[in-house]
Amino acid sequence: MSERANLLDFTLPALTEWLAAHGEKAFRARQLFQWIHQRGVADFDAMTDLAKSLREKLKGIAEVRPPAVLSEHRSADGTVKWLFDVGAGRGSKSNAIETVFIPEDDRGTLCVSSQVGCALDCKFCSTGRQGFNRDLGAGEIIGQLWVANRRLEEMEREGFSSRLEPDEPRVSSLASRSPRPVSNVVMMGMGEPLNNFQPVVDAMSMMLDDLAYGLSRRRVTLSTSGVVPNIRKLAEALPVALAVSLHAPNDEIRSRIMPVNDAYPIEELLQACREYLEVSPRDFITFEYVMLEGVNDAPEQAHELARLLESVPSKVNLIPFNAFPDSGFARTDMARVRRFQQILLDAGYIATVRKTRGDDIDAACGQLAGQVVNRMKKKYVRIQSQPGH
Ligand code: SAH
Ligand code: SF4
Repeated sequence: MSERANLLDFTLPALTEWLAAHGEKAFRARQLFQWIHQRGVADFDAMTDLAKSLREKLKGIAEVRPPAVLSEHRSADGTVKWLFDVGAGRGSKSNAIETVFIPEDDRGTLCVSSQVGCALDCKFCSTGRQGFNRDLGAGEIIGQLWVANRRLEEMEREGFSSRLEPDEPRVSSLASRSPRPVSNVVMMGMGEPLNNFQPVVDAMSMMLDDLAYGLSRRRVTLSTSGVVPNIRKLAEALPVALAVSLHAPNDEIRSRIMPVNDAYPIEELLQACREYLEVSPRDFITFEYVMLEGVNDAPEQAHELARLLESVPSKVNLIPFNAFPDSGFARTDMARVRRFQQILLDAGYIATVRKTRGDDIDAACGQLAGQVVNRMKKKYVRIQSQPGH
């Protein structure tokens, strides 16, 4: 492993402090931060407005070290998926995380991982099935965005479109879009972001920093299975848009499919959501609801859900289940999903059905595969990539 500091680990205040300890002024930190994140530059020699002596010094003590890309897959629909090596040793292929880019008309969304595996063991989730290995560092989290922007820009130069604008000339549309390919981030890859609190907050603060990616709080969404105390901590530390994986209209069903519900049952979770809305950049909470055949998808359960959410301004996102081997669950057919959706719409909710993207490259945001050495169960588990959502 390298002895040099990985500059991707540093928020701007941390970088300022680190440079000060090496005798450099605060404005140097701002310049360096902009080179790294705004322009995606890793080579100190290319940072032409830094003094030559500083560049030489940096070469000896620091580097910009993103997680290594193991593979990159591009889908016919513009979706791109990366597999990153986050193994213990260099070149080790024993631990991997996935990151997915999903282009849409008016935005480019990156689905980012926060942990290697996940400890929360939701029964319908292939990441949960793999168990937990470790938390990602802030540099490994922001590194996914750093690499994605760079690679997508390279691909654009090669003529691969990461922006869906079939009829418009590129130049005119660029003006109305964010300058870099990734305009939105969702913390919906592998892991429970609120169980890796500080590194996730540090990485998100870099996403928001005007000298880095400059994304507004509304364009960064954290998805949680409902770790209630940390929803409150997030409200204080960095209130971004919040999505909550609810997946059930009552505690009985939720506890069966999400063990976290035993620790933080639905009423506590909804109370935390109501409090969060006081500081949230959005005036609703997005509730995710994966449709599991015969488990939570009956019309009466839609009515029950509508009653449950009356006290929280909400938007419901129905997710078609992505099956994986021996999951024990099946995907609800689309007619039944539509019926469930209609009941919510009739009750006055905004209810959407998540589109399936990147099917041909198994790019299912929310149940990403990777390959994790499970530290908890002390056994080696490998799960294959699954068909996309
Ligand atoms: N741990 C966080 C974020 C990662 S999961 C959370 O649970 O919210 C992102 C979303 O994908 C969650 O809503 C999760 O419940 C959903 N998901 C997990 N497994 C899935 C599957 N097999 N099919 C469809 N969605 C799934
Ligand atoms: Fe973890 Fe989220 Fe999967 Fe549950 S759904 S096991 S919290 S990644």
